[in-house]
Amino acid sequence: MRLSRYFLPVLKENPAEAQIVSHRYMLRAGMIKQQAAGIYSWLPLGYRVLRRIEQIVHEEQVRAGHIPLLMPTLQPADLWRESGRYDDYGQEMLRIRDRHERDMLYGPTNEEMITDIFRSHVSSYKDLPLTLYHIQWKFRDEMRPRFGVMRGREFLMKDGYNFDVDRDSALHAYNRHMVSYLRTYERMGLTAIPMRAASGPIGGDNTHEFLVLANTGESEVFYDDRVTALKLGAREIDYDNRAQVAAVCEEFTTLYARTDETHDAAVFDRVPEAHRKVGRGIEVGQIFYFGTKYSESMGATVVTAEGTKVPVEMGSHGIGVSRLLGAIIEASHDDKGIIWPEGVTPFPVGIVNLKQGDGAADAACEGLYRALAAKGLEALYDDRDERAGAKFATMDLIGLPWRITVGPRGLANGVVEVTCRRTGESEEMSPEAAVDRIAQVYAGI
Ligand code: ATP
Ligand code: MG
Repeated sequence: MRLSRYFLPVLKENPAEAQIVSHRYMLRAGMIKQQAAGIYSWLPLGYRVLRRIEQIVHEEQVRAGHIPLLMPTLQPADLWRESGRYDDYGQEMLRIRDRHERDMLYGPTNEEMITDIFRSHVSSYKDLPLTLYHIQWKFRDEMRPRFGVMRGREFLMKDGYNFDVDRDSALHAYNRHMVSYLRTYERMGLTAIPMRAASGPIGGDNTHEFLVLANTGESEVFYDDRVTALKLGAREIDYDNRAQVAAVCEEFTTLYARTDETHDAAVFDRVPEAHRKVGRGIEVGQIFYFGTKYSESMGATVVTAEGTKVPVEMGSHGIGVSRLLGAIIEASHDDKGIIWPEGVTPFPVGIVNLKQGDGAADAACEGLYRALAAKGLEALYDDRDERAGAKFATMDLIGLPWRITVGPRGLANGVVEVTCRRTGESEEMSPEAAVDRIAQVYAGI
């Protein structure tokens, strides 16, 4: 993408309404525009990151054997009357009436609708296990929408629902989700710690929230800091292997890690003092096992191998896709701007032409741009007629992890400069070597 032809409305001034750094940088970097309280347009740069995050979520869900579909944003109220949640949900639910006076709502979540789909088509244990998920906009009329996309009213969520014949299978589905979520967050460059949670309006006994540590997080968290060093890494997971998946969950949930809702001071006191930490965290996902809460009230049953009819066992599992942009920025920035992890960056690399209009510099930039594209890497090429300082400031603000700087002086010696946004370190090398270096970084991503 050539910056001269792109739409990147960066702001010079700090927007007064933004209280936290991620909101400030998303506005300044021209990623989002607020249209009403808690409702945003996703401008091209923000949209690219959102799509990238979605793609990672899809890949890891499919890897775990879960099946994508798409349910609508608008739902009939009658489904929610069946489960009893139409009245329970309160003012967070946006209620709408259509021209025929039918009660509708903008979905805050989809347990009822997915249960309705299930009961219409599945009636035998032979069709199980089954996990269906979608990535779809939700609406919750939050009392205090704030912090930009972090607590919006309209927001993008991945929500998945497992259907199983018995409790053990449903617990395996729960564990499968935990492991697939750990891998999802790791690919985004995040450490998200599973913490035992309280269940709230969805109901259920087993539930964990995934928290990214950040001072601006809304949840108070208590943890053994050794939990932050745990990594899945490149290990192979066989998602059908119940024992292996359960062992990974145990590895990640044995050390103390809880939010204020489930915190137990007596248990926390047993953590060695040097490792006992209190901080704040951003909830980027939550998994629930709730058994037959919806299948019983909505009549979703299956016939077991023994021929008995039982309500299907269920759980639901969510990832805050749009909130993740804010969480990643909170976890990865400096005073100049965002520092995107390679896994989610809107462009893998930026090219800065120090002297637009100089024949050699222009030709070298074009050459780099095409050579990178040939390796599947779409660079953002700053080909504007701007001062070098302004170009660097824009690149630093929008946070591309790598930058190649091209100028007549370096080219006279046959070199360009490759700079890592995170460390600030630069190295001179030939344009060919620069392309290889960037390609190598992204080879495993
Ligand atoms: P919170 O406690 O932050 O209000 P929640 O527990 O009500 O969230 P869930 O029902 O668990 O939310 O939804 C799954 C995920 O969706 C959450 O973990 C969070 O990442 C995201 N999410 C929930 N509410 C919002 C919101 N208002 N704006 C953006 N993301 C949200
Ligand atoms: Mg939650």
